[in-house]
Amino acid sequence: MNEIIEYKENIFPGTRDELISLVRSKLSTKRFEHVLRVEQTALDLSKQHQNVDLEKVSIAALVHDYAKERSNDDFINKIKEKHLDQDLLNWNNAIWHGVVGPEFIKDELRIYDEEVLDAVRYHTTGNAYMTTLAKLIYMADYLEPHRDFPGVEDARNLTYHDLDAGVIYQTWHTLKYLIEKKSLIYPATILTYNSWVAKH
Ligand code: GDP
Ligand code: FE
Ligand code: FE
Repeated sequence: MNEIIEYKENIFPGTRDELISLVRSKLSTKRFEHVLRVEQTALDLSKQHQNVDLEKVSIAALVHDYAKERSNDDFINKIKEKHLDQDLLNWNNAIWHGVVGPEFIKDELRIYDEEVLDAVRYHTTGNAYMTTLAKLIYMADYLEPHRDFPGVEDARNLTYHDLDAGVIYQTWHTLKYLIEKKSLIYPATILTYNSWVAKH
């Protein structure tokens, strides 16, 4: 059953349908459908939590991968134009679409709510400190119904029962997976691990 949230807070200057059209215009069908599943998963997970702004949950989920299909040059230009940390130039789309994505979201969608933008910034690597909103987006992206990895059902059950336990689970498994394939680890990923797994 799809849940439709009516936008009333002017976080995005338009309706949910208008936001959906803008997001759809920048993404492949496959990724657009992922985004809709993340929204529904995040709204569903939100039922376990009080004081969560469902409008922010919907908006953050719908825009979390907004910049994922931009070219490397688009990201490089944005990093330079906005005078972002020059170390970002050493990274790639996997990191950029989360960390630099909010610059496209502000400029093109006129969404400026920093809690929403932080949820996008942290959706790939997590962060040492995350609001409930950021945790919901981080986990919904990991657990949406088409995600299929060994243990996904256990991860879903755990997360519905205890959101922080889900964050710990994802942080540990993602870092383990990246290390096993000898990927470069983005420093924030290590800080997330230290804060959530090692020191928890
Ligand atoms: P998606 O955008 O819905 O596909 O999901 P994510 O934004 O969560 O992940 C994008 C990719 O980034 C995944 O393949 C992750 O494994 C990868 N990733 C997450 N953290 C790091 C990191 O620290 N370093 C690198 N190299 N990749 C990472
Ligand atoms: Fe992503
Ligand atoms: Fe995603």
